[in-house]
Amino acid sequence: MKKIYTLLLLISTLSFISPQALHAVERRGNPIMRVLVLDNRDSISLAVKGSYKIYSMPSEKLLTGGYILHTKVGISKQGIMFGSRELKFSKIRITVPRGGLIYLDGRSFRGTIDIIKKDNTKLSVINRIALEEYLYGVLYNEVSHRWPIEALKAQAITARTFALYQARQNKLQDYDLTNDIYSQVYSGATSERWSTTRAVKLTLGKVLTYKGDIFPTYYHATCGGKTEDATNLWNIDIQPLKGSECGFCKESPHYEWARNIPLSDIEKKLCDSGYKIGKIKSVAVMARNKSGRVDKIEIRDDSDVSCMLTGKDFRNMMGPNDLRSTNFEPSINNGKLTMSGIGWGHGVGMCQWGAKGMAGKGKNVEEILKIYYPGSEITTIDKIANKL
Ligand SMILES: [Zn+2]
Repeated sequence: MKKIYTLLLLISTLSFISPQALHAVERRGNPIMRVLVLDNRDSISLAVKGSYKIYSMPSEKLLTGGYILHTKVGISKQGIMFGSRELKFSKIRITVPRGGLIYLDGRSFRGTIDIIKKDNTKLSVINRIALEEYLYGVLYNEVSHRWPIEALKAQAITARTFALYQARQNKLQDYDLTNDIYSQVYSGATSERWSTTRAVKLTLGKVLTYKGDIFPTYYHATCGGKTEDATNLWNIDIQPLKGSECGFCKESPHYEWARNIPLSDIEKKLCDSGYKIGKIKSVAVMARNKSGRVDKIEIRDDSDVSCMLTGKDFRNMMGPNDLRSTNFEPSINNGKLTMSGIGWGHGVGMCQWGAKGMAGKGKNVEEILKIYYPGSEITTIDKIANKL
């Protein structure tokens, strides 16, 4: 028994990823992503169900290690409290053997975990994880694992390309991606499913390029008929993001929606956003862009003072879940603003429900991506590695 234990310990020691190896590209084609998974925390519950090692960073000094861990991590004056032990460092790295999991507040993560004391008051946590494993933890959050495999493959390629693009943009920042809707929703190994992992594996290393380089492969839940030209939202003017006809997302539960918001709530939101406006009298769409989405909206009060917002700013102010898209018609009824709209999301790039609709009609991943990113090509990471 002792022999087996020693052997197991030796194997697990051998397969530990060295902290140095986690600095940059783990191996060609599967770079490490740095994902912010927890932020502004006073304490974190941390657990490992196998062997682990803890290093100080950036000095990479081995501080401690062992087998089975369940502790609270907090803040001390001079560093980080690790259970009852004070580690006098502001950044520590927890590593486990390849394939092992680290639990943070009950959610499991592959790769390694950096706990950082920020501005001396709060903790943030960055999960360093190989791109392909990161994608295992993204897909289930973005689409249903019950969708047809060709739609899941399209999601895997767009999510892979999007992550690589973000990593290149954020090279000099502390992390590449957040784990929320502002990057891609990621919740670690907890959200892995057989079919979504299969879609990642079937598209291993595949990315979308335009003119030989990756681009931000935006996607959204439901376009409602036409996807949006990215120039209406951001400073990106390339053929694959100029918008296209969809017509495949009618079955989406988000195709049509309506919201009623009390005018007093909107008055407060306007005031909080710096607009000087009294009791709202009218809300009118002044301009729509080519896809039918609101470009300019005018809000007027009972003293005839008005303010003009872009559709994008209005949606941000209202909250992207309340105002599901900028493709809506406003009307005032009984002290409330009724917004009747179609689609969910910014509308740029792939319409996820449209991809599902296409896959359901027998279209393959190439055909799906051609519709939503016209002019783009599917290639592999190794072909563009020198640009990352
Ligand atoms: Zn659509």
